[in-house]
Amino acid sequence: MNATNRRYQIAVVPGDGIGPEVCDAAVAVLQAAVSGVADLDFQYHAAGANCYLECGEAFPEAARAACLAADAVLHGAAGLPGVLHADGTEAGQDFSMKIRSLLDTYANVRPIKLYAGITSPLAGRKAGDIDYVIVRENTEGLYAARSGGNLLRDEIASDTLIMTRKGIERVVRHAAEISRHRNGAPGDGKRRVTIVDKSNVLRSYAFFRHVATEVMADYPDIEVDYALSDAVTIYMIERPEHFDVIVCENFIGDMISDLGAATVGGMGVAAAAELGDDHGYFQGSHGTAPDIAGQGLANPTATILSAAEMLNWLARQHDDDDLAACGAAICKAMEAVLAAATDTTPDLGGQASTMAMAEAVCRALTEA
Ligand code: ATP
Repeated sequence: MNATNRRYQIAVVPGDGIGPEVCDAAVAVLQAAVSGVADLDFQYHAAGANCYLECGEAFPEAARAACLAADAVLHGAAGLPGVLHADGTEAGQDFSMKIRSLLDTYANVRPIKLYAGITSPLAGRKAGDIDYVIVRENTEGLYAARSGGNLLRDEIASDTLIMTRKGIERVVRHAAEISRHRNGAPGDGKRRVTIVDKSNVLRSYAFFRHVATEVMADYPDIEVDYALSDAVTIYMIERPEHFDVIVCENFIGDMISDLGAATVGGMGVAAAAELGDDHGYFQGSHGTAPDIAGQGLANPTATILSAAEMLNWLARQHDDDDLAACGAAICKAMEAVLAAATDTTPDLGGQASTMAMAEAVCRALTEA
């Protein structure tokens, strides 16, 4: 440890199911990556379904205050299918929904990238052919109705989809800025933002398209493209190379990012960065995967790549080039491990455990 190292407070919320396993893996890689360069002060906090069972709250006040005060939040996953509120919704999901509005992380940035060493279920696609980013609006849309819907007499239930001009404008600007910093769609090299909605049926989605189009007028260097949310599922399968950046409402983004993940190796490799103007919250796109929890079977790639994004984001926020180099090094090491395909978890056809795969990434970091 160097006395001059920059210090960052990281709130770690391991959560439920595979959450603690993938978090431990990511923390091990982060420690190896920043060694001698920065000090990451990891503070652990309970939240999620098990926390709800133990203390009656999925996101207790102490964890809330710590997440708000930290420089960044690293999360595994939260929620368990059997831990429910009386209305049938998952108690553990309270954490995910509340932290997004607490930190106002309005852009959920989900890269969909096919890495060397991973076989896509889409025939003939190789590394580099699929490389786009889904930007999911993260604080409003249909999920803003969480806990605010109606359930009357066990006969009528309703949830309201909420769109605001501010919410649409800021997430579309974020998507456009991401496009500006990329090299365009793999198919034709064009910078393109695809606005995905269901504007042919619902007024709220038509408003999303209208405001998004207005915002994109400020980005004449980027092609604007439209797709309905049902049709885009076909395009993501038939011509994924067309996409550069997709921007969409919260619920649609939740759906299509799982589909996108499936085209590049599954949920285990799907990273995410949930970003606001002042806060960043980092977790893989996947859930708690109770079917494989506690067995060392979880692929840590998604969380490790999300942790790398955390360093990149902290580097931008704090003008810290050394930290950006650490983030880039993690991505490179992760890519090397995936390409070698000798230390991968069973979902990728390997036999390594979660921690063994993380250790392989640490070795690749040292070798680099
Ligand atoms: P949520 O709605 O909370 O996001 P989900 O219902 O989409 O969760 P996941 O928990 O993401 O479901 O799991 C979906 C499938 O992907 C399961 O078969 C699970 O085992 C698998 N899966 C998820 N994460 C991983 C991982 N890190 N490694 C390997 N397989 C995973």
